[in-house]
Amino acid sequence: MLQSVDDEWTGEQARNDGARPDGGRNSIIRIRDVEVVYPDGTRALHPLSLDFMDDQVTVLLGPSGAGKSTLLRTLNLLVPPTAGRVMNGENRPLETAGDIRGHRTKTAMIFQQHQLIGRQTALQNVLAGRLGKHAFWRTLWPFSERERRLALACLDRVSLFDRAFSRCDSMSGGQQQRVGIARALAQHPKIILADEPVASLDPSSSHRVLTQLRAICKEDRIPVVVSLHQLEYAREFADRIIGLSNGHVVFDDVPDALTEGALSAIYGEP
Ligand code: ADP
Repeated sequence: MLQSVDDEWTGEQARNDGARPDGGRNSIIRIRDVEVVYPDGTRALHPLSLDFMDDQVTVLLGPSGAGKSTLLRTLNLLVPPTAGRVMNGENRPLETAGDIRGHRTKTAMIFQQHQLIGRQTALQNVLAGRLGKHAFWRTLWPFSERERRLALACLDRVSLFDRAFSRCDSMSGGQQQRVGIARALAQHPKIILADEPVASLDPSSSHRVLTQLRAICKEDRIPVVVSLHQLEYAREFADRIIGLSNGHVVFDDVPDALTEGALSAIYGEP
């Protein structure tokens, strides 16, 4: 488990089995009766209630416009729900500006277009994941030795230690996405949200990225919620699949339950 890196971080802590003594599961984030209507009147999510557990990779499936990105951005509170509540694992609604800011610093986002700074090194980009942890004045100082060691350990987790000083724009798309994962890890997140992280990658890079996200979820007990378009990856990497159609949850089950009938409910008639 990525320990409280803000306090006592050592590189060795970058890999840990993260097992809880009781072997149980924790709900990390809960949404209740959440509904999203955009200002132009588009109803992107109809009221839905979901829990996300600490040891699960959840894949969001659905056609374009189904509400996958909106759900991810609502979990991050980038899109405020029009109705309903987003709550932390202790059932406390995240409502005040302080709650929302705190929640965002612990919620890592991974995007299709990695959103890295190409002319900076992988290490600099990973360190950027730490910026939200500091007061503004502190960001004027260089990163500490401890944070640099953390960033290197995160790059090691995604097998890019030896590329730490390479510029990101000299790396392949798959490597850049793995830098994005390392940056997410450096944030010491409670949850990782990934919006179509492999949409622009070749199959081998996609496989590697999803394998690493799944390993992080299992080893660190960080829930990963990922939207995908590829059914085969959903079946291979998900513990749970949520199917969305027109802003409704029409499927919520294990991958084995994803029958032709379920696919028709998600994507419409074949
Ligand atoms: P998906 O990720 O499944 O493609 P989205 O969550 O992006 O779906 O979109 C759900 C619906 O909300 C769509 O009808 C989309 O056009 C609409 N939508 C998304 N973002 C906005 C926005 N900022 N303003 C208005 N409508 C939006």
